[in-house]
Amino acid sequence: MQAASVQSSKTVSPSELKTAPLQEIFSSIQGEGIYVGKRQVFVRFAHCHLKCAYCDTPMTSATGQCHVEIQPGSGQIEYYPNPMPPQVLVDLIGELLKTARHHSISFTGGEPLLYHGFLKSVFPAAQKLAPVYLETSGTQAEFLAEVLPWTDIIAMDIKLPSATQEAPQFENHARFYQVARQNPAAELYIKLVFNNQTTAEELDAVKAIVTNRKTPIILQPETSLGDKKVYLQPQRLFEIENTLAAHFEDVRVIPQTHKMLNVL
Ligand code: SF4
Repeated sequence: MQAASVQSSKTVSPSELKTAPLQEIFSSIQGEGIYVGKRQVFVRFAHCHLKCAYCDTPMTSATGQCHVEIQPGSGQIEYYPNPMPPQVLVDLIGELLKTARHHSISFTGGEPLLYHGFLKSVFPAAQKLAPVYLETSGTQAEFLAEVLPWTDIIAMDIKLPSATQEAPQFENHARFYQVARQNPAAELYIKLVFNNQTTAEELDAVKAIVTNRKTPIILQPETSLGDKKVYLQPQRLFEIENTLAAHFEDVRVIPQTHKMLNVL
């Protein structure tokens, strides 16, 4: 879905939106990236402007309301109307943070940055509660710039057409990466979903975009949408890992782990 189509009015730009459609809010274990295994509060936004072939995220909740699991792992859901105002979200985050020791608050999607006007109201208050961790497609540099001062960790995707089956986003990624680096206090890492078809040209594009060789690169093998398994030839895995590890200082292969734990 394009950013413009999620506006509540044709005269309101995304930067002016003060409420946002949310799918779910819950406490769980991070299943991807450099903080895999860490306890986080998750805030999942509805809608995305991309259509990655491997995407398993429902773009809206079944009820259209925001589903909130106040007791982690209980499966007991409370329903909140959408779109949600910033203070309601901050209060819910605060309640969930009280249930356990959490590493950070993960804003995920969908694409959270579609709602950067809303995030500008939420991030400063959320950051006072716990570090703000942003999971993003890494394609909308101007939206990131709006919230960058209050973002502690940026998990930035670089979309490889071999996996997404979509047009390349490399120019958008390059702009996004350079904006992300403008906040030296924000931790930045890259996530690459890849498969047997990933090409040397795509890996060259990643090297051109990520100009700091110390930026961590997380290789995430594509998970099958059907049986949730990874079908990757071991030889391709090592070829791709070798190629990137010869250039970047910190390359790790981490499959999605939350699906093994059967948690949200
Ligand atoms: S960017 Fe993320 S949420 Fe959007 S379609 Fe791709 S995988 Fe799904």
